[in-house]
Amino acid sequence: MIPYEKLQSMPYGGDYNPEQWPEETWEKDMELLEAAGINTLTLNVFSWAAIQPSEDVYDFSRLDRIVALAERHHMHIVMATSTGAMPAWMAHRHPDILRVDREGRKRRFGGRHNCCPNSPTYLTYAPRLAEKLALQYRDHESIVAWHISNEFGGECYCENCEKAFRTWLKGKYQTIANVNAAWDTAFWGHTFYDWDEIVAPSMLSECGSWGGRDHTMFQTITLDYKRFLSDSMLHAYDLERDAIKKIIPGAQCTTNMMGVFPGLDYQKWAQHEDFVSWDNYPSPGQTYAEIAMPHDLMRGVGGQKPFLLMEQTPSVTNWQPYNALKRPGIMRLWSYQAIAHGSDSVMFFQMKRSIGNCEKYHGAVIDHVGTGETRVYREVASFGEELKKLGPAVFAKETKSSVALIFDWDTWWSSEASAGPTQDYWYRTEILRFYEPLRQMKVNVDIIGQQDDFSGYRLVIAPVMYMVKPGVAARLEQFVQAGGTFVTTYFSGFVNEHDLVTVGGYPGELRQLLGIWVEEEDALPEGAENHFTYHGVRHPAQMLCDLVHLEGAAQLDGAGYEEDFYRGMPVVTRNAFGGGQAYYVAAASDESFYRDFLTDLLAEAGTAPLTEGDADVEVTTREDARARLWFYLNHADGEKRVSIAAAGRDLITGEAISVGERTIAGRDVLIVEESLDR
Ligand SMILES: [Zn+2]
Repeated sequence: MIPYEKLQSMPYGGDYNPEQWPEETWEKDMELLEAAGINTLTLNVFSWAAIQPSEDVYDFSRLDRIVALAERHHMHIVMATSTGAMPAWMAHRHPDILRVDREGRKRRFGGRHNCCPNSPTYLTYAPRLAEKLALQYRDHESIVAWHISNEFGGECYCENCEKAFRTWLKGKYQTIANVNAAWDTAFWGHTFYDWDEIVAPSMLSECGSWGGRDHTMFQTITLDYKRFLSDSMLHAYDLERDAIKKIIPGAQCTTNMMGVFPGLDYQKWAQHEDFVSWDNYPSPGQTYAEIAMPHDLMRGVGGQKPFLLMEQTPSVTNWQPYNALKRPGIMRLWSYQAIAHGSDSVMFFQMKRSIGNCEKYHGAVIDHVGTGETRVYREVASFGEELKKLGPAVFAKETKSSVALIFDWDTWWSSEASAGPTQDYWYRTEILRFYEPLRQMKVNVDIIGQQDDFSGYRLVIAPVMYMVKPGVAARLEQFVQAGGTFVTTYFSGFVNEHDLVTVGGYPGELRQLLGIWVEEEDALPEGAENHFTYHGVRHPAQMLCDLVHLEGAAQLDGAGYEEDFYRGMPVVTRNAFGGGQAYYVAAASDESFYRDFLTDLLAEAGTAPLTEGDADVEVTTREDARARLWFYLNHADGEKRVSIAAAGRDLITGEAISVGERTIAGRDVLIVEESLDR
């Protein structure tokens, strides 16, 4: 749980690395930061080498001075454990800590996120450091949370990982016969007789590249290896967390996630955190819906609870092909967007720009000029002032939604690893086909996992539900039986949790619910189109076209393929199932189709958008028993119109806001607090 009891106002601040600067500069930094309304510092993210100069020597003297400095300036502290990058001496003396990459190359010292997750050295020294830090700082009330390592991720294919993989497999499957069955090793005669015959699926074994993306010959093995790597890093996280909690039982522990990140199963990880936190770095040109989606995903992995925005840049990144400046007002707008989707903080990487190496041109509150005379500093300070006025008004408020999108890491891994049917398929894109129009239509969307409870929703959408995990089809049937509306698409229901095809006809376990049989799937090359008509409008059928037979479902009015040998076969089907409906969309299409289709689905599901207005105005709500906050965010450069749905108080200006049409200035935000006190 976010430590609200320690926070009087929203955490505003971020990563501060004074160890990169002469000590005499620190005081001035703090004065500038305090004057900008910064109240929270993430300290000690990359200091392992400094605080542990050798195996048995720990030196916290400088960190003590940094902590004292932050406390003198009334800062809350997010204390990192610093294990995101190993010390050079450790790599030199204990090379087991170095990773082996997918090409089979043993890495040498360098970079970050570089520890082998199964290295005995790493698994000894990282939790030991976490424990030493907890002992050193256990009495510091200023520490509001513990930040374990940093942006966990990456891969390792070393011998230690290979051995640990075999142990993980024994735990999961018990016998080698079960492994052979789960991996379908009869294919290509890969049958294993001894655990030691199993090797990591790297480019030296099962993997290769063709068709412009990485592939593996044995998706079954690769899928389990991805799960194993995610679990290995989670185990490393757990060891540090437990080391801290042994000393400080009430410590609130988290690690910064990275949104739509393929490396780790965050739905599993979030169960091990006291609250979710994440780093938001949109790519250039992303739409506001694309930026919003990972916020909803991160809220979802944490069980729809508020999260902390742990990092964003105040101005510019350093790693993209073109590192465009955030235009005036964008930092504020995107910060409010995070809050609108469930964040209870606004934090930056970083407080001060380093003078050397790859992040020296990454944006910071304090630029190389070293003063407050910059546009970025002024924007940060002005926003800090505004957040102070907001106080804890947004804290702990939840997002209520009757629409859920299913997002599943195993489905992501297995569907993108598939050899065929098309190289144009990407899971994130499939999620966005539905998410983007819902966002523009001003609908709150929960992003949930297959394991989550569906019963609180009216509409559940599972774009490309390629993998159906045990029990999920039955739970979906119950959901629809009880009156829910369910939608899925092409390439769904194909495989079970081992990535083995469910025989007896696609979409496998979903066949009865959907009332269809998918006989074949046609992959259209980029630019090629079939067509269908929906509500009198002709739309393209693209990428994948399923050849669907009706088995109780109805073909929606006119929605049949118009060309090729499967002309007339249905594209959109609806199956009445108990008290609800189950829909199937057999091909990818254009934006206007998804918008029209979703409009119909919302109406049928008995739910409605929050309000209406221009597409550029994003609207969300967060609420508790006392108040509902309405967020109206204008993502356009110019003025846009929106309909205010509930009267209340403007949380930023205090002005009374009434129901009705209103314009919002370009890049501006209106937050209306609607009282729910009866
Ligand atoms: Zn390894």
